[in-house]
Amino acid sequence: MVPSVFLNKQQLIDQELKFDIYYNRISDLNLDDILEIAWNRGIKEAEKIKNKDIKQLIFQENILIETDEKSYNPAYTIFSDYNSKEKKITIYKKNIQNVFIPSIPDKYFFWKDNEKIVDLFLTHEYFHHLEAKYIGLTSEIKKIQIKIGPFILKRRLRALSEIAAHAFVKEFYDIW
Ligand SMILES: [Zn+2]
Repeated sequence: MVPSVFLNKQQLIDQELKFDIYYNRISDLNLDDILEIAWNRGIKEAEKIKNKDIKQLIFQENILIETDEKSYNPAYTIFSDYNSKEKKITIYKKNIQNVFIPSIPDKYFFWKDNEKIVDLFLTHEYFHHLEAKYIGLTSEIKKIQIKIGPFILKRRLRALSEIAAHAFVKEFYDIW
């Protein structure tokens, strides 16, 4: 599977929606508008700080970076996460090296580097920090109708935040 950030816009959106736990329950007929809003949000935020050093940005925000050198679980391949309470980004090195890097398309060989690729994850998580601290969660902009049994409920689609974060990274590094 090609990592979302290396897919084009439509493929990326489709893949992230499928990852969402509510994917099979979405009853909104048309998500186009909110998907566009999520995507543009990532692009817009990246345009403001493009070409800056991501490690410097993270340092300025007092975000901790923790590297997990040990965890490796092919069945649950988490590559990085951001904990807003602790203001901490965790990078899961083993998963990145064993699973993520081999799945990068050849066209993007530039990123098949154990050090360089970490910046990509730091940038993704930095966007989640911007959401948590400054701009609000993208998934909160609009709750989506989902169907559970006979009920129609409104839920946050986590995928919207992910789509925005991937757009942010793509624009930040010009991964087109
Ligand atoms: Zn994310």
